[in-house]
Amino acid sequence: MNRSITFLEVGPRDGLQNEKALVSTADKLELIRRSIDAGASRIEVTSFVNPKRVPQMADAEDVCAGLPKVDGVSYIGLVLNAKGAERAIATGTLHELGAVCVATDSFAIANQGQTSDESVDAAKAIIAMAQAAGLKGQVTIGASFGCPFEGEVSEDRVVAMAVALAQANPIEVGLADTIGVADPAHVSRLVRRVVEAIAPVPVRVHFHNTRGTGIANVWAAVEAGASVVDAALGGLGGCPFAPGAAGNVSSEDVVYMLGRAGVATGMDLGKMIETNRWLADVMGRKLPGMVAQAPAFPKSVQE
Ligand code: ZN
Repeated sequence: MNRSITFLEVGPRDGLQNEKALVSTADKLELIRRSIDAGASRIEVTSFVNPKRVPQMADAEDVCAGLPKVDGVSYIGLVLNAKGAERAIATGTLHELGAVCVATDSFAIANQGQTSDESVDAAKAIIAMAQAAGLKGQVTIGASFGCPFEGEVSEDRVVAMAVALAQANPIEVGLADTIGVADPAHVSRLVRRVVEAIAPVPVRVHFHNTRGTGIANVWAAVEAGASVVDAALGGLGGCPFAPGAAGNVSSEDVVYMLGRAGVATGMDLGKMIETNRWLADVMGRKLPGMVAQAPAFPKSVQE
């Protein structure tokens, strides 16, 4: 089991993409600036998708133009196809392209208009485009633990996809529970299998807390060898193409749990809680994350 993980903040993209009220570019950049200040070294800053389908991401180029240059901080743009990859590369401010493929045909077609196999080929092509442009390429397998349309997803299928994707030399392969149906036993089994199948390529995990199992799933994944963990500040999030999908695991809750359990994240919990309060003001409502609503413990960490 890893005694430290890389924390990856996805709030500016996955946290906000499903919010109806448009968040200003300035507020997105402030969220990014605050995440860096709290210690984040990798941040998913936006996605390059059709603005008619995901209006919240229509300012992708403006966000990229405003990114502060900070040594040791890697900015990620999510892309679903070659056109998105070209837009992301053209900004000149991103360090990584994140590709997405999906474990089932029904969800792959709803999310990105491709079959599951086509989504693997497209992701490999995006990784190659990133590498040719001098950027890093990585990939996430959506619906790894369950599909909103087809139900159970075969573990063999996900392992086979991860092996195929690893051949493109991504910096890591991510497993996403897009609709928040995973349980820790399933996570433990599948992460262990994928870690073994694609070593030394690292495994990243991405959980949504739709049914309250998100934080337990993070623990199971880290125990099983995942070395990168996605989370969104405040626990915001959802997916426009997955019915009923709810928020990501909250960054503060993940950092609190791992820190208490002796797994280093490099993050400053006190600053994250301050950012939670700032973001709640921006959104005009209390956010789902729990740690920011609880009294500080131990007191010194959060003062
Ligand atoms: Zn997500």
